[in-house]
Amino acid sequence: MVATRKSRMTLKAIGKVSNEVTQPRRQGWEKVISEIVIDSRLTQALDGLDGFSHIKVLFWMHQLAAGEVPLKVHPRGDPENPLVGLFATRSPRRPNPIGETTVRLLERRGNILRVEGLDAVCGTPVVDIKPYIPGNDSVADARVPSWVTQSRGIGQRLEEIYRRLMDGYGPQHWWPAEDPFEVMVGAILTQSAAWGNVEKAIASLKEAGALSPAALRRLPLADLAKLIRPCGYYNAKALKLKALAQWLGESCADDLERLFRGDTAALRGQMLSIHGIGDETADSILLYAADKPVFVIDAYTRRILSRLGLAPVGVSYAACQAIFMDSLPADIGLFNEYHALLVYLAKNVCCRRPRCRECCLADICPSRVTE
Ligand code: SF4
Repeated sequence: MVATRKSRMTLKAIGKVSNEVTQPRRQGWEKVISEIVIDSRLTQALDGLDGFSHIKVLFWMHQLAAGEVPLKVHPRGDPENPLVGLFATRSPRRPNPIGETTVRLLERRGNILRVEGLDAVCGTPVVDIKPYIPGNDSVADARVPSWVTQSRGIGQRLEEIYRRLMDGYGPQHWWPAEDPFEVMVGAILTQSAAWGNVEKAIASLKEAGALSPAALRRLPLADLAKLIRPCGYYNAKALKLKALAQWLGESCADDLERLFRGDTAALRGQMLSIHGIGDETADSILLYAADKPVFVIDAYTRRILSRLGLAPVGVSYAACQAIFMDSLPADIGLFNEYHALLVYLAKNVCCRRPRCRECCLADICPSRVTE
């Protein structure tokens, strides 16, 4: 969704969340104690709030990747739930990642509100506070569709699949690279290429002293193409690497630490504007180079998910990503291993012609071939 000039608006954080939770999760927030540190210039605006037992907190879910947002989703990421409009769900992946939660107000100390049950990670910007007023904020005869009460919990099924894959194949140690820039280069070179050939191309770049943004900018295009020849489409990929190196110089003076400290959604949007970087490459960089909790989707993932009956054949990138990101805790280590394990499964077991007899998911897979 592209914001037009007319629809742009400015939102100011009024404070920040401070707690011990560093990664978003789906459950287990009820007992989390947080402090909301309000901008001290607004302290007086809190007067009288401690007369209320509960408050509503509106916050900006800054760790969520933005990009394309599906307009229709299966609620809770469960394909057995009906496909409904995004705004008929609580999916956190929305055009504006605004969260709203009613929490118990334990204490107000000056500009600090101590609350229980806020489902926001440490550092989350808070955009508004309102008192909870029974009668105004609760409705006695509210009606909800049946999926709200009957959902089967896709999160548990995805966790079961992950556990079996991990038990069966163990940690995959992704991404094999010496530093984040090597991950970025590898993410481009691996497009339509076997990893073994990518390794050869990266080894050539290292040997030529060309594996840095500045060196790539200096290197003539034809020489670069020659160095990365083993991974195929080398002329096109040389142009892509040049575009990446150019962008890094202009956007952050090659300071990747500074670049990756930025907002995930904004960073994703910027990367998608670079020649040769699409959804999968951008998300690979976000997860494996920038340590952001973003689930990477590829053709292997879509194949496995559809065979497992968790997504329709031809599911879009965004919808497939939402199945994972709406159902699993946003855990970098989990996303790292899960994606790598799915790739392993697709390459070695759930191939074009699946070897179901060897598969650790066979007894929970509706596409299992018994021959
Ligand atoms: S049982 Fe067969 S089709 Fe199902 S995931 Fe395993 S290999 Fe793929």
